[in-house]
Amino acid sequence: MRIGILSVQGAFLEHEAMLKSLGAQCFQIRQRKDLADGPPDGLVLPGGESTVMHKLLLELELYEPLKEMLENGLPVLATCAGLILLARKKEDGGPVCFGTLPVTVRRNAYGRQLGSFRTEGDFKGIGPVPMTFIRAPLILRASPETEILAAIQRPEGEQIAAVRFGSQLAMSFHPELTDNPAVHAFFLDMIKKYQNR
Ligand code: GLN
Repeated sequence: MRIGILSVQGAFLEHEAMLKSLGAQCFQIRQRKDLADGPPDGLVLPGGESTVMHKLLLELELYEPLKEMLENGLPVLATCAGLILLARKKEDGGPVCFGTLPVTVRRNAYGRQLGSFRTEGDFKGIGPVPMTFIRAPLILRASPETEILAAIQRPEGEQIAAVRFGSQLAMSFHPELTDNPAVHAFFLDMIKKYQNR
C-alpha cells in the first residue's frame, strides 16, 4: 500500500511514522514531480495551517492534480487543517480549497491559544480513541450522506469530531499525535475495501 502524504507544511512526519509502523509504504508530496507515478493508494492531508497549505498547494502546482485525484475517489485521511482543505464550506466565507467533502467548518472553533485539549471519544468501528485537539476546526453541519464516526461532549453540547463521505475520512483532531494507531489502521482498511469494491 503506497500512501502519499502532503508534506509542504504542518504535522506530516507523525502521520508517516504511524503509517509506516502499520506496514504502509509512504512518500512525501512536496512538488509536482512527486505525483509523476500517478495517484497513490491513499492520500494524507495533515494538520498545520490551512491557509498556508492552500497557498502552497497553488504555488507548487499541486492543487490541480490532487483535486482531480480526489474527485476521482482517491481515499484520503484529513486531520484538522486537512479537514478544512477538504470542506465544501467555511463558516467565515473564506476561500474553499478542494471542497470535495460536503461539510461546513468553523476554523479555530475552540479559541486560538487556549483552544488545545485532549479527550477520549468513541470512534465508530474502532471504540474509544484518544483525541488531541489543537486550534481545531469544528464541523458545524454535514450533508445527510456524510456518516458521523465520532462526536465529543463539550460544555456547548455534542460536537462532531470525525466523518466519512465515500472514501474521504476527516476529523478535527490529531490521531497522529497520540500513541494509538487505530484511526490510521481504520484508514488503511478503508482503502482495502475501496479497492475491492
Ligand atoms: N487552526 C488551523 C487552521 O485553521 C488548524 C489547526 C491544526 O491543524 N492543528 O488551519
